[in-house]
Amino acid sequence: MARLIDAGPGCPTPTPHRAQSAAEARGLVYDDAVRAETDHLYELVDDFITPMEWPAVAPLVAAINRLKKEKNAVVLAHNYMTPDIFRLVGDFRGDSLQLAREAANVSEDVIVQAGVHFMAETSKILAPEKTVLIPDTRAGCSLAASITGADVRLIKEKYPDYPVVTYVNTSADVKAECDITCTSSNAVQVVEAVAKEWNTDTVILVPDQYLAKNVAAMTDIRIMTWPGACEVHELFNADDVSQLRDAHPGVVILAHPECPPDVLEAADYAGSTAALANYVKDKSPNKVVLLTECSMSDNVAAENPGVNFVRPCNLCPHMKRITLENIYDCLTDMKHEVEIEEDVRVRAKAALDAMMALPKMETPLDFEVGMAPLDVEYV
Ligand code: SF4
Repeated sequence: MARLIDAGPGCPTPTPHRAQSAAEARGLVYDDAVRAETDHLYELVDDFITPMEWPAVAPLVAAINRLKKEKNAVVLAHNYMTPDIFRLVGDFRGDSLQLAREAANVSEDVIVQAGVHFMAETSKILAPEKTVLIPDTRAGCSLAASITGADVRLIKEKYPDYPVVTYVNTSADVKAECDITCTSSNAVQVVEAVAKEWNTDTVILVPDQYLAKNVAAMTDIRIMTWPGACEVHELFNADDVSQLRDAHPGVVILAHPECPPDVLEAADYAGSTAALANYVKDKSPNKVVLLTECSMSDNVAAENPGVNFVRPCNLCPHMKRITLENIYDCLTDMKHEVEIEEDVRVRAKAALDAMMALPKMETPLDFEVGMAPLDVEYV
């Protein structure tokens, strides 16, 4: 079961290390110059960072923003970054698909990926001439770790007539073996397009078994899958949804499609992180809960001050490895550069390009809610 405490704004759990010494150890102090550069930024994070903490955070923010100019760098910040990163140093913000599109188009020389390793690899695949840095090389992902390129080669040997779609939450090695990638914003579109292209009624969608089941509920294409799961989203279940409804009458429950199908059955709406953010902005529900990684609520709440958020505490330990401190360190020393063998990169890019070549969806996909869970076959 997921942790259903209502952490409230400013939850201390995902808050990065705030010790004054973290900035001071790097020779950064909260002086008049830093005040002038950062005072106007505080209101963007005032429900997350206390006034007492701000003098420890502001020097790092100012230094990172200066370094970005010096090194001609941008920070791509995923929706699951803590608000200090997301709102104060992120130049482009969004879900995997939005960040991948930005990576392909940025003009700066250096990309700092404020996200996990497969996202940094995706940036490098799409922008090989750029220097791509990951602030902490240990920032992995349970989905990406669940499958290897060798696994996909075996799947292809066994099912040569079926296209293999990989969710973008995989390594470059896996993408290199697959026919096309997808994200939670476009998974149904991708599955249906590749089935048509291959003239088949069956598509293999790896590695997220829950995304695969949720996609299968929305298409006539037969889906086969792999037993991978996101360690954050797989913890939610239908009982959590009932408990939330009991504890917060009238709450609108939004779920990410990496959650198991019984969660989507019980939820009010489901979609990618971009879709969830759009829903809150467009519908302005009185009270809402996002069944996804917890920093997403902090980031969406900051943009929707009239909406009350119930905030279950479900943090991704991999995303939380990225901090202001290690963004500063990697930019200062230009360290933790992501490298991919050219042969792998080119084949992985073909899978990403196949996805990018599909007509761009005007809005991210809405997943069906209220439907009985559907079982799918595993490869
Ligand atoms: S939230 Fe889940 S899918 Fe996203 S990086 Fe963490 S483990 Fe991977």
